[in-house]
Amino acid sequence: MEKVVILGTGPAGLTAAIYLARANMNPVIIEGDQPGGQLTLTTEVENFPGFTDGIMGPELMDNMRKQAERFGAVFKRGWVTEADFSKKPFRMKADGIGEIEAESVILSTGASAKLLNIPGEKDNIGKGVSTCATCDGFFFRGKKVLIIGGGDSAMEEANFLTKFADNVTIVHRRDELRASKIMQDRARENQKISWKLNRTPVEVLSESDKVTGLKVLNNETGEEEVLETDGIFVAIGHRPNTGFLGSQIDLDESGYITVKPGTTETNIKGVFACGDVQDKRYRQAITAAGTGCMAALDAERYLEGDAILDWSETLNQGQ
Ligand code: NAP
Repeated sequence: MEKVVILGTGPAGLTAAIYLARANMNPVIIEGDQPGGQLTLTTEVENFPGFTDGIMGPELMDNMRKQAERFGAVFKRGWVTEADFSKKPFRMKADGIGEIEAESVILSTGASAKLLNIPGEKDNIGKGVSTCATCDGFFFRGKKVLIIGGGDSAMEEANFLTKFADNVTIVHRRDELRASKIMQDRARENQKISWKLNRTPVEVLSESDKVTGLKVLNNETGEEEVLETDGIFVAIGHRPNTGFLGSQIDLDESGYITVKPGTTETNIKGVFACGDVQDKRYRQAITAAGTGCMAALDAERYLEGDAILDWSETLNQGQ
């Protein structure tokens, strides 16, 4: 049985791993299918303190992982499909690993890109539809692409894509953007970016396994239009990765884990949550890392003190 198992390897999970490994708690980290988390899908990170000239997202995550390994953290590649936190030890099942038993668990599974759920979208992922400009931008050198969304992600990805594509059009369902002013300004100043506001995506069009256009509804005229394009980047936000938890962990109405304010404690003693999976407000690498540190300290305290109480309570009840 493991003392503490950490699910997820974004800044939250890796920071928790660094702290717990340094505290000789022998953390085991389950990597999931996106090792390094969302930052491995970004380019330059300019706002993570300590890097005067910025650092590339994948490099930052690689550094954090090596730092955790240096203190003895053990990484395992797998995808947790089931978790049973109803009694101790906690039990999880992971594809690629099998059964895992743990005295405590840190949930840092992050969030995943949302899709539009319109016809033609899923079928064309990898054939012109993408949720990751950093991963796929390279393939659109000299081409025409659309970015869907009006938030910071859409602005950031649009700017990034202008390094490759000849023309990038931002398609947004309202005439007002959700993005912060600085990000909007950067996109507006970029000559390669054009705008299609007040357009709701309706269908992804393709021919011979290649995206050719996006059908949109013009919300001003009520008419449908076809925007011709070689690629469509969907940047409409993220969904917390909490599906495997069922109803045993308290979630809010959007599926984010609720924690006791000021702590990383979930409704189950010994199960902690940190990073984007419990944060729909700040969602920054540095806040994720901060809560990862909190989760490690909470778990350590639980394992050293409260755990003894808990286990004896369980024994007294004859369970
Ligand atoms: P977001 O702020 O939630 O924006 C999502 C955008 O997608 C919104 O404009 C939304 O439209 C649109 N949208 C959502 N569902 C849609 C649908 N079904 N069809 C069409 N459009 C849809 O998400 P985000 O841009 O990913 O940003 C998330 C958080 O990360 C924010 O706090 C952001 O500040 C932060 N972030 C920061 C940076 C940075 O500072 N470098 C970069 C990226 C993200 P409506 O506006 O109409 O709702």
